[in-house]
Formats: sequence, C-alpha cells, structure tokens
Amino acid sequence: MNDNRDGTLTTYRGKRHFDRTSEPRGEGTAAGRKPVFVVQIHDATSMHFDFRLEVDGVLKSWSVPKGPSADVHDKRLAMPTEDHPLEYRAFEGVIAGGEYGAGTVIVWDEGTYEPLAGSTDDKGRTFAEALEHGHATFRLDGSKLHGAYALTRFRGGEDSGEREAWLLVKKKDVLADGKPAPDPRRARSVRSGRTLKQVAEDGPEGAG
Ligand code: MN
Repeated sequence: MNDNRDGTLTTYRGKRHFDRTSEPRGEGTAAGRKPVFVVQIHDATSMHFDFRLEVDGVLKSWSVPKGPSADVHDKRLAMPTEDHPLEYRAFEGVIAGGEYGAGTVIVWDEGTYEPLAGSTDDKGRTFAEALEHGHATFRLDGSKLHGAYALTRFRGGEDSGEREAWLLVKKKDVLADGKPAPDPRRARSVRSGRTLKQVAEDGPEGAG
C-alpha cells in the first residue's frame, strides 16, 4: 500500500472505509497513481479539442483545432491555454452564452499518461521542466488514445514575446494506427456516450 505516501491524508483515510462510504478518498498527485490526461471537444466560437495533461496538480492545457491524430505524419497545431483545475477533467455540459468559452463541451477521451525518456532525460528534468523547455514526450493510456506522443514548442516561449505555438505529434510505436481524430460533431463522450448535440439539448443543467 502506497496510498498514504504523501502523509497529508493519513488521518482522514485512517478513519474511513472507502468500500463502505462514498466520500472521496482524495488522490495525491505524487505517489500512488499515474497522472491523468483528458481530451475535451469544445464547440465554441470555433470548434476545437482541448488537450490537457495533469502536471503538478493542475491540468496543463492546449487548444488543438484538428484534434490529436494517431498518424505519425500529422502535425497538429496546439495553442497553449490557461492551466485548468484538476476537477475540470470531468466537465461536460454547456457553458452559457456570453460566458468565457460559451458553447458545449464533451469529454472525448480520458485516462492516464506516463512521462517518457527524451523529455525527462539525462539532464534530470522533471516532466514540468521538460514542458517549460518546450519538449516533452509521454505515453497515453486512454480509452481512445494510446501510445507515445510528443508536444513540441516551435514558436514563442523563453522571453521571445511571441505567442507560443506547439505541435502535438504521434510518435512511432506499435500503437501508431494512423487514425486521425473523428469529426467532432459525430464524436461521442467517453463518459456519457453523448454527442455535442445531445449534450447541448440537455441544456445548462447538464453542466457539471
Ligand atoms: Mn476550449
């Protein structure tokens, strides 16, 4: 059992039987579990995929207009957006008109990931540091996305004053099956099986 390695929830957890209560266990971000990723489809002013990786307790986020591709020849533009709270990975619903990011969101894929050598390399970098330096590779274990991907900054960063732009690219491995992301209007939520249209019809109360 490595559940209590972080120590901070030891007392809380010691008082509870999580097979008998629905209270949250509380998951540390460091020890005992792999970091998560999520890909949401967001029907905002322009349709895009939001690709998010858990790093140091937040979701590092990129807006990927065409969505991730499992074809190693596809270079997908990925524009960084603000860090999102970890809980955002469960968000599926309608952001009301007039609000920031107004439009419908579905959780297209989610799972865990593992940083790969080449980003957290011989320089002893953490995954967060690799991202700061503009290149990180990782292995996704989702319901739809699998295998190694790389995120690489090709513009901006390091005090350049330019807006950052990155590429999300599938790395060659046995899981490079050549499939691009689906038509976002036909894609279904990995959580609820719903399309964007069905979530939109369920209305703002479906937001969570
Ligand atoms: Mn978005």
